[in-house]
Amino acid sequence: MYHNYNSVLFQHKNYNSMFNKMIAGILPYFPKKFVWLFSKRYIAGVSLTDAHKVCRQLSENKMIFTLDMLGEFITDLSEAEENKQAYLKIIEQTETIGLEGNYSLKPTMFGLLLDKNICFNHIRDIVAKAASYNNFVRIDMEDSQCVDMEVDIYRRLKKEFPKNVGLVVQAYLKRTLTDLKNMLDMHSTEAPLNFRLCKGIYVESPSIAYKKYEEINAHYLEDLECMFQNKIYVGIATHDKNLVEAAYKLIEKHKVAKNMYEFQMLYGVTPELRDSIVKKGHKLRVYVPYGEKWFGYSTRRLKENPQMAGEVMLNDLMGKLQEAQQQMVESKKRLNSVFVEAEVENGLVKVKANGNRKITQLSINKELLQNGDIEEIEDLIITAVNKAIEKADKLNEGEMSGMAANMMPNLANLFGG
Ligand SMILES: Cc1cc2nc3c(=O)[nH]c(=O)nc-3n(C[C@H](O)[C@H](O)[C@H](O)COP(=O)(O)OP(=O)(O)OC[C@H]3O[C@@H](n4cnc5c(N)ncnc54)[C@H](O)[C@@H]3O)c2cc1C
Repeated sequence: MYHNYNSVLFQHKNYNSMFNKMIAGILPYFPKKFVWLFSKRYIAGVSLTDAHKVCRQLSENKMIFTLDMLGEFITDLSEAEENKQAYLKIIEQTETIGLEGNYSLKPTMFGLLLDKNICFNHIRDIVAKAASYNNFVRIDMEDSQCVDMEVDIYRRLKKEFPKNVGLVVQAYLKRTLTDLKNMLDMHSTEAPLNFRLCKGIYVESPSIAYKKYEEINAHYLEDLECMFQNKIYVGIATHDKNLVEAAYKLIEKHKVAKNMYEFQMLYGVTPELRDSIVKKGHKLRVYVPYGEKWFGYSTRRLKENPQMAGEVMLNDLMGKLQEAQQQMVESKKRLNSVFVEAEVENGLVKVKANGNRKITQLSINKELLQNGDIEEIEDLIITAVNKAIEKADKLNEGEMSGMAANMMPNLANLFGG
């Protein structure tokens, strides 16, 4: 997959990329709390309340949403029933917040790979619930073993709920244009086919999927043009500036009506591009994932875009280093105005030093100056100075270890302690 690495922290591109990939690769083995540092920008939160908060913020910024409860590839059908119940509740509760948005779901979360019929029935119940509010459910497209089954579920549901269900198609799959054409039999002006077009996120074999950035993009635009030509409703799901620009041109070329397309982006990704699309007056929907199962989703997102993992990690470490440096400067300032005193021979020689080990005062008893011999005076001065420096050292060490103790909880938090 193509990545536009532009970190300023490392000059060498390959080194940078290796570092990012390494961080993304090892993240799943880190404590969850630590991974959350990286993930929080992609996940709306753990609860539906968190997700609704994000939906409200999006709405304030003229964007709409599609809500997705995280979880996929379940291994036990009891989870499918639980997931369905959860989705029914999500719809019920979301419909009360009065914002424009719909729902996205992954069929493997309802047992697609365990029992296709049970899965279909669960998804049907969810689509029926959304339809009862005149709303819409998008079936996400998963890896290639699921494609036929997911197209089939869409076909069956489109018959029963012509305006309330849509499917995702992936431009990287070589079969997609043919799939699109095959599905045209379900299309009508009253109830158009409704697709989200994305590049595709799973690792697929080169025998069935395009692998190169240019190839994927060329097919993305071919699929998009096919949809525009056939007046299919399309969610143009990409963060790729080149594709967004090319989509603008196709929209103009085919004079696509505003109510026949929207742009879509993932929560937390390329916000500047997102805002620029909204400013131009296009509809923009944000995919808002949330839920307790955020860990798997986010580690996949980070592997997909390792640049993010590397940068967050470095930013965080750099932040901590800067914090430490700042504290050092403050400690030094403080130590400049803290003093220690040392004396020898009942005050014949007195020395004052500050916490940074700088001698600030030296006093020698007058009688000693008049009567003592020079060697004796020199010895006394050396002893007093050494004593003062020893005391200043202790003061300095105390200050530094206090500062380190203050820093430790921060560093421990960073590593999930
Ligand atoms: C709304 C939505 C729904 C999706 N649903 C599905 C689905 O059902 N099935 C499926 O297989 N795939 C899905 N995807 C993922 C999609 O297939 C791509 O893997 C993903 O969007 C990256 O491709 P891109 O078009 O953004 O282009 P890329 O060329 O991969 O990315 C372009 C630029 O966007 C930025 N970027 C892209 N992704 C990320 C990221 N995760 N984090 C940070 N920056 C990033 C990078 O700066 C990158 O240079 C969905 C994507 C979106 C936006």
